[in-house]
Amino acid sequence: MTTLPPLRGVIIPVTPFQQNCSLVWCNETKRAAVVDAGGEVDRILAAAEAQGVVIEKLLVTHGHLDHAGAVADLAGELGVPIEGPQREDQFWIDGIAEAGLRYGMSGCRPFTPDRWLEEGDGVTIGAQSLSVHHCPGHTPGHVVFHHAPSQLAFVGDVLFRGSVGRSDFPRGDGAELIRSITGKLWPLGDDVTFVPGHGPLSTFGQERRDNPFVADAVLARRR
Ligand SMILES: [Zn+2]
Repeated sequence: MTTLPPLRGVIIPVTPFQQNCSLVWCNETKRAAVVDAGGEVDRILAAAEAQGVVIEKLLVTHGHLDHAGAVADLAGELGVPIEGPQREDQFWIDGIAEAGLRYGMSGCRPFTPDRWLEEGDGVTIGAQSLSVHHCPGHTPGHVVFHHAPSQLAFVGDVLFRGSVGRSDFPRGDGAELIRSITGKLWPLGDDVTFVPGHGPLSTFGQERRDNPFVADAVLARRR
């Protein structure tokens, strides 16, 4: 009998953008997924070794450089499949090598996921299942992963502690981003802790109380 939670993880901030790459594993099987392998493959591999877990797949929230820059390299090195994002992000993934050059990040290569994800899909990590939520607005094919038993979500650049994702990129849409947050994330519950793409963790309830962009009171004033 174990008292450890079924899903465990560590955050590895990677790239000059300090993106919250997450190594997440099933405690029962010690099988792991890397969520948003943006860069620094060596540190990701070292974290897996330190935790004694085996990476079985790569999950991708969206196609931006700092989230997906090392996905092709890591998948090739480990021989594991890539799942996500939603296919509307293909154009971002196709441009990832050029973006890497602009920011001085070498080795960023485009890829085609083994599995595109859609609203309502599920992904597994070992014996654990996470639900997939399509949350466009920051990028058109952005997805979020939710593990209901742990009340934990990986939201990429949709929502941050005290802020929301940028929507001024090509095919970004600020109104759609707000709809994704209130229509897809809030229904998961106030008690859900989320790992954002950058910065500290928070809960949906906390953001509904005091996030200057999407708190309930802020949105009510806008209506
Ligand atoms: Zn992004």
